[in-house]
Amino acid sequence: MLASREHICDLPSTTDAECVQTHGIVSKSMSFYKAEYIWIDGTEPTSLLRSKTKIIPMNEDPGLWGFDGSSTQQAPGDKSDCVLRPVRVIPDPIRGESDKLVLCEVLYTDLTPHKTNTRAACVAALDKYAAQEPLFGMEQEYTFFEDHKPLGWPSRGFPGPQGPYYCGVGAEFVYGREIVEEHMEACLEAGLAYCGLNAEVMPAQWEYQIGPVDPVTMGDELWLSRWLLYRIAEQYGVTVSLDPKPVIGDWNGAGCHTNFSTKAMRESYAPIENACAALGEKAALHVEHYGFGIESRLTGLHETCSYKEFKYGVSDRGASVRIPWHVAKEGKGYAEDRRPNANCDPYVVCGLITDTVCSAN
Ligand code: ADP
Ligand code: MN
Ligand code: MN
Ligand code: MN
Repeated sequence: MLASREHICDLPSTTDAECVQTHGIVSKSMSFYKAEYIWIDGTEPTSLLRSKTKIIPMNEDPGLWGFDGSSTQQAPGDKSDCVLRPVRVIPDPIRGESDKLVLCEVLYTDLTPHKTNTRAACVAALDKYAAQEPLFGMEQEYTFFEDHKPLGWPSRGFPGPQGPYYCGVGAEFVYGREIVEEHMEACLEAGLAYCGLNAEVMPAQWEYQIGPVDPVTMGDELWLSRWLLYRIAEQYGVTVSLDPKPVIGDWNGAGCHTNFSTKAMRESYAPIENACAALGEKAALHVEHYGFGIESRLTGLHETCSYKEFKYGVSDRGASVRIPWHVAKEGKGYAEDRRPNANCDPYVVCGLITDTVCSAN
C-alpha cells in the first residue's frame, strides 16, 4: 500500500472513485484499501456468513453497497437487489494494516431493515433499556472438522472417552491449536473484546469468549469473530462447525453460554435473583430463539438442563442459568444463561435477554 497519493485527475472537485470511473484507469500513485463487506444471509434454519471485497480510495469511508439477494435466500430473482449498510468497521488482521473488515446490516432498497436483519431489534432493545447499562459476554464453542470427521479423530472408530481433553495439553489430546492461536491473534489485532479461550470436553472442540460489552456490540463482535474463525481455518483446509450436537452419543454438545448483567446486578445480589426469575417466566420463549436443534443438546445430560425444565442455581452446571460462585460470594456481578446453542444468533439472544431482564426491573 502506498503511503502517499496524488489525485489522478486534473479536475480538483472530483473524487478518486469518479476519476477511476471517468478515465477507466488506476493511477500508480493513487492508493486504496481493501474492504471486506461481511453480512448475515437468509439461509434456513441457521444463517450463514457471506462476504465480498470492495477496493476503496484511501480517503473514503466504506459506504452503502449492494448484493444479489437471490443468491443468499434474501430476495426473489426479479427483485434481487439488497442493500448493505456498514455498522462496524475494524482493521483487517488478515490482509493488512490499512485494509478493513466491514460488518454490514442488510436493508431493502427503501433502506428499511430486511426481515433477516436481527440486529435492528437488538438495537431497539438496547435503546429502550440503555439506562440499565446491560452488558454481555458470550462463550462461543465450536468443533473443527476435516474430511467429514472431527479434526484429529481416527479414520475408523472413536478417540478415547471424554475426560482428558478439556483444557488439555499434548498432541494426543489437543487438535487444531495452531488455528485457535492464529484466530486469537487476529481477534486481538482487530480490536475485538476477545477475552479468553480453552480446549473443550470433546476432542476437536474449542471455546473462546468475548465480552463484556453492550448487547449490540456483543452481536457485532461475535459475528465478526466467527467470520475470522471460518476464514483462518479455511487456509488449513479445516471447517468450523457450530452444530449444537456435532457427534451423536456420549459426546458434549456445543453451546454459547451467555453471561449478562445490568448496572443493578453489578452492584447487588437481589437483582441477579430477579433476573433469573424473569428468565424462568419466559423459559419457552427463550429456548425457542436460542438456536436450531436445541432439543438435541439440552437433554439434561452433558452439563445441561433439559429444555423442558428451567432452574437456576449457584455453581450448578446442570442448571439453565448459573450464578458463578464468586458472584454469590461477592454478592454482585452477573449470571450465565447456559442454554443458547453454538449456532445461536447473538443479536437475537442478547436482545431477548435484555428485554426480559430489563423489563422486570
Ligand atoms: P465459564 O466459567 O462459564 O467457562 P468463561 O470464563 O468462559 O466462564 O466466560 C465468562 C464470560 O463472562 C466472559 O465472556 C466475560 O466477558 C463474561 N463476563 C464477565 N463479567 C461480566 C459481567 N459483569 N457482565 C456480563 N458478562 C460478564
Ligand atoms: Mn467458558
Ligand atoms: Mn465451554
Ligand atoms: Mn460457561
